[in-house]
Amino acid sequence: MSAPEVTKPSNFLRAIIERDLAAGTYAQRRWAGSPGDATHQGSGALDPARIRTRFPPEPNGYLHVGHAKSICLNFGLARDYGGVCHMRFDDTNPEKEEQEYVDSILDAVRWLGFDWEANGTSHLYYASNYFDFMYRAAEALIEAGHAYVDEQTPEEMRANRGDFGTPGTNSPFRDRSAEENLQRFREMRGGKHADGAMVLRAKIDMASPNINLRDPAIYRIKHATHHNTGDRWCIYPMYTYAHPIEDALENITHSICTLEFEDQRPFYDWVLERLADLGLLSRPLPRQYEFGRLNLTYVITSKRKLKALVDEQIVKGWDDPRMPTIVGLRRRGYTAEALQLFAERIGVAKDYSWIDYATLEQSLRDDLDPKAPRGLAVLDPLKLLLENWDEALGAGHIEPCSAPVHPAQAERGRREFGLGREVWIERDDFMVEPPKGYHRLFPPKGDTAGGRVRLKYGYVIECTGFEQDADGRVTLVRAKLLPDTKSGTPGADSVKVKGVIGWVGAQPAEQGGGVAAEVRLYDRLFTEAQPDAGGRDFKASLNPDSLRVVQAVVEPSLAAAAADQRFQFERHGYFVTDRVDHAPGRPVFNRITGLKDSRGR
Ligand code: ATP
Ligand code: MG
Repeated sequence: MSAPEVTKPSNFLRAIIERDLAAGTYAQRRWAGSPGDATHQGSGALDPARIRTRFPPEPNGYLHVGHAKSICLNFGLARDYGGVCHMRFDDTNPEKEEQEYVDSILDAVRWLGFDWEANGTSHLYYASNYFDFMYRAAEALIEAGHAYVDEQTPEEMRANRGDFGTPGTNSPFRDRSAEENLQRFREMRGGKHADGAMVLRAKIDMASPNINLRDPAIYRIKHATHHNTGDRWCIYPMYTYAHPIEDALENITHSICTLEFEDQRPFYDWVLERLADLGLLSRPLPRQYEFGRLNLTYVITSKRKLKALVDEQIVKGWDDPRMPTIVGLRRRGYTAEALQLFAERIGVAKDYSWIDYATLEQSLRDDLDPKAPRGLAVLDPLKLLLENWDEALGAGHIEPCSAPVHPAQAERGRREFGLGREVWIERDDFMVEPPKGYHRLFPPKGDTAGGRVRLKYGYVIECTGFEQDADGRVTLVRAKLLPDTKSGTPGADSVKVKGVIGWVGAQPAEQGGGVAAEVRLYDRLFTEAQPDAGGRDFKASLNPDSLRVVQAVVEPSLAAAAADQRFQFERHGYFVTDRVDHAPGRPVFNRITGLKDSRGR
């Protein structure tokens, strides 16, 4: 057995897989090249995949960060252990499913860095293609006395199920003959009965302490058109019956799902054992394992609630950069690598836990820090005038400046830009009445000289005054340049300053000046860490400042960027050119996250 190429932290699922590989649990399975029953698979050669996992979304919505965890987990385990992960649409439920969702799901999985091609086969499957087998299996269960058609009303069925402390009551239809059940079931399929008139139930134990084993329904009547099978069927299998069969037909070895399904595992095994005994499915059978679903603070991951945010126009669509959908995270600027790193860091555990949103942000920083080119941007521009420019450097002179594309990777070259008489600085780098310990710009007062700072990659300057409008809003800062202090020259250290500030030239872009840009400052969508916990109304804790749009000025190298490019704006954080709205000449940036977690916790 080849060891996983990268050493990853172990977890209970890896331990199970390693144990199965060591024991050869699945070594003798046969695979005929496509999903199928015992006869079909038995005709194949030994399965080239050491393990098979699957990612089985229902195509009824956009995937979110929780699904990303499941994708990284299932595809990642298959990759690490010489296995194959199947991409399967669990489309057994008619009506709710749409092609738009199918396309977006495939796109999301590919974007995350995974695919379903292996050993020359595309492992993209649709559960609805197994309807014929599921039906045949149901007839076999009926013939073997393991299932019956129940004609109780839904109310009677509910009442007779009992509850946690009370055993259920057998249905009066429970003991009819296999022939009669078969006839009824065929009538159900033939369209003779209305929705809800009867169901096919597994015959297990109405007194089981596990309510899921009290004769669960396995087929219901639903006169509905299915996106794949059209009007061929008017009965549809229940999820809990369909899912184990899907896994078995596909030779899945480790069927990984979230903890809510733990109580369903006995039924999962019941279905598979019965069908294997009847010779319809090959052994060894798949096994189900549960892990705790991802809960992320300040985020909701229910598809229904996310849909409400879109439908009620609280956000601008499924790909709004504030959405925890994969399309939203992607537009926000998250990378696939950052999401993979995040999934690895949070790991898997057999209990529910809340992961701090900061963990996701930190994964992004760790991914982008070595990759992202740097740039200067002024998000809240205030004009600064260097009054002695003409005497010091000459009227109309533009001083060429440069900075490394990446401070730790000199080989990536330098960005060029120009410094002239007028520059843009951040409004909060100047204060009329500075508090003690403020090391940036402030005006001279009495005997005290004005504040001195270095314009990063440029000169040291000293504040000489300012102008303000009738409302007291500062409109201009005046300063003088200290000659011979330019960064990178021998005199650079002749004057010591405590503050260094970012800036962008106010001259035209052709002379290395800044370019106006729209910058979208995104923040958390909710102010509560657990917006929907305990049935709380998540719309009551919407963050009114989750989006602030500012008109910024950015250095020329940033303005020239193509769409979907990521940068670190020095001192400000990580930003991406918006995939949809950015255009050269009309730059639009999204803030992905700040440089560090600045929030107290
Ligand atoms: P929702 O409850 O939001 O509708 P779902 O679980 O019904 O989500 P599916 O399409 O059935 O959505 O999910 C596909 C796979 O993704 C399942 O295997 C499921 O276990 C997994 N999954 C869904 N949500 C999470 C989550 N928050 N954390 C981890 N895995 C998840
Ligand atoms: Mg589901």
